[in-house]
Amino acid sequence: MTRVVELRSDTFTLPTDEMRQAMTAAQLGDDVWDEDPTVHSLQRRAAEIVGKDASLFVPSGTMGNLCALLAHTQPGDEVLVEAESHIFVSEVAGAAVVGGLQLRPLSTTDGRIKPDQVRTAVREPDIHEPRGALLCLENTHNRQGGICISASATRELAGVAHAAGMKVHLDGARIFNSAVAQKVDVKELTGPVDSVMFCLSKGLSAPVGSMLAGSAAFVEQARRRRKMLGGGMRQAGVLAAAGLVALDRMVERLAEDHANARRLGEGLQGIAGIEVDLSRIESNMVFGDCQPPLTAREFIEGCKREGVLLDQASPKRWRMVTHRGVSAAEVDYAIEAVRRLMGVKPREDLRATA
Ligand SMILES: *Cc1c(COP(=O)(O)O)cnc(C)c1O
Repeated sequence: MTRVVELRSDTFTLPTDEMRQAMTAAQLGDDVWDEDPTVHSLQRRAAEIVGKDASLFVPSGTMGNLCALLAHTQPGDEVLVEAESHIFVSEVAGAAVVGGLQLRPLSTTDGRIKPDQVRTAVREPDIHEPRGALLCLENTHNRQGGICISASATRELAGVAHAAGMKVHLDGARIFNSAVAQKVDVKELTGPVDSVMFCLSKGLSAPVGSMLAGSAAFVEQARRRRKMLGGGMRQAGVLAAAGLVALDRMVERLAEDHANARRLGEGLQGIAGIEVDLSRIESNMVFGDCQPPLTAREFIEGCKREGVLLDQASPKRWRMVTHRGVSAAEVDYAIEAVRRLMGVKPREDLRATA
C-alpha cells in the first residue's frame, strides 16, 4: 500500500461531512449587499468568540491582514512587525504595494517581541520621521516554530503600543492552536489588541476563509478595503456555513494535533543527520535542520519517496505540520520512514503496533 502522510501544512485539511451538509443546507443572499444570513451568523459568532464588537468574513488570511493594515493606517505610516512574521515574509509585500506602508522588522530569536523593542522603536513626532501607527503580533508564530505568545505578554506589548498612540493588530491565523495549547480562553489572547485575524481554513478544517474582528467602526473600514481588494463575495454563506461548523466543532480537537506534533518530535529527535529542538514544539509544528552535507531539499525528496510530505523553510530547514488529516499511526509511519531514509534501524516499540 502506498500511503501519503501530508505534513506540509494544516491548510491541506478537507472539510468534514458535517461541513458539507451545512454548506448544502445554508441560507444564502448577496453578501456584498450585506444580505447573506449565514455570513451574518458566522460574523456574529466569530466576534463573540474573540470578544470583539464585530467581524468580517474574508477570502484569506492574507487579505484579512491587509484589510486590517489598510484600515489602521495612512500611506507613509510605519508598521512594526516581527522579522520572521507572515506579514513581513509571506504576503508579497502587499502592505508596501497597496498600503504605501513602511514595515519595520523587529528581530527575535523565538518570535516573541520584547516590550523594550517596541519602546525603542516608538517614533517621536518629528518632521523627518514616519508616523508609528501600528504594532503587529503573530500568535502562534509560524516560522519561529508555532510558538505561543502568552496573554500576559500580549497585554504588556499592547500596553506599550497604546501608550505610544499605536494600534495593535494580531495575526492570529492559528490563534485557537495557541489558546488550546496554553489552556486559556481565546479572549485572553485577543482582548488586549485592536484587531485580530484568524483562519478557518487551517487546523479548523473549513475549505476557505478567515475572519477579521475588531470594533464596529474598524470592521466598517475593513469592509470597504475588502471590497477594494476584490474580496467582496456574493453567496458566501456556502463557505460561511462550513466556518460555523469549524468554530463550533473543531477547536477543542486541536489538542490532538499538538499531541501528535510532540509524538513526532520525540520520534525524530536523536536521528543522526537531522536536528529537532523539542523545547520549541508548542503547538502543531515540528521544525528541524539538516546537518551538512544533507540539504533540506534532499531530505524532503527522500521523505517524499517514502510517502511523507513536508515543507521547506530554508536551505537547511524543514517544517512538518500536524492536523486533522494526520493520525497518530501516520505520525509513527512518518517517524519510521525518516529512520529508514537516514539508515537507522526500526524502533521496536513502534514495530509492535505497526
Ligand atoms: C497562513 C497564514 C496567514 C495567511 O493565510 P492565507 O489564508 O494562507 O492567506 C497569515 N498569517 C499566518 C501566520 C499564517 O500562517
